Amino acid sequence: MIHAILFGPQASGKGTQSKLLAEALGIPAISTGEMFREQIKRGTGLGKEAEAYMNRGELVPDELTNAIVRDRLSRDDVKKGYVFDGFPRNAVQADALDSLSTINLTLVLTLSDNEIVRRLSGRRVCPNDHIYHTEYKPPRQAGVCDIDGLPLSQRDDETPEAIRVRLRIYRERTTPLIDRYRKQGIPILEIDGSPSIEDVHASVMKAVEAYR
Ligand code: AMP
Repeated sequence: MIHAILFGPQASGKGTQSKLLAEALGIPAISTGEMFREQIKRGTGLGKEAEAYMNRGELVPDELTNAIVRDRLSRDDVKKGYVFDGFPRNAVQADALDSLSTINLTLVLTLSDNEIVRRLSGRRVCPNDHIYHTEYKPPRQAGVCDIDGLPLSQRDDETPEAIRVRLRIYRERTTPLIDRYRKQGIPILEIDGSPSIEDVHASVMKAVEAYR
């Protein structure tokens, strides 16, 4: 059974690749960012609290994040395994995860800063979090989601300032977790995130099959 974490800076394809991997393995992808965006859309108290942090590119407080994950891990579908996307992002969250479940695989998508900026400037999302890119993954009709026909827009947290904050947090607080799992003897599969979505997915599958 696979209990995986997919690490990677923003725009590395974490969301897309975790969904593709989870689909291929028949297990859920768990994205804390997506769960927060869902709460914001529904106008819940949690969503209102999370939104200000997210728009600044900062981390949502650990108590809120850990609570949403605890809740998610209590659902039946995770009994077959899961892939985390965007969690844990710091040591406190990794501690919380240790007390809830046992990770047995980590994947790291790598991407240069130049490529991160290039990708983010063309990124568009629909209200249901389907992701496109004006250059690399354009929708059939410009500005409209292929799946639900809803309008595409840029994410609020993809302003230059928020991008800078998120990259710094990733480097300072999230990447040390990779070492932490390495020290625990958990396999780390490092994958170049710069090729096309299909090619990165093929590399991810190859690495995961080799691990299995
Ligand atoms: P993502 O979709 O993973 O890029 O997350 C978007 C935003 O949601 C982040 O910039 C944070 O503000 C918030 N967020 C997502 N996951 C976490 C987490 N594990 N801890 C704290 N904040 C998070």
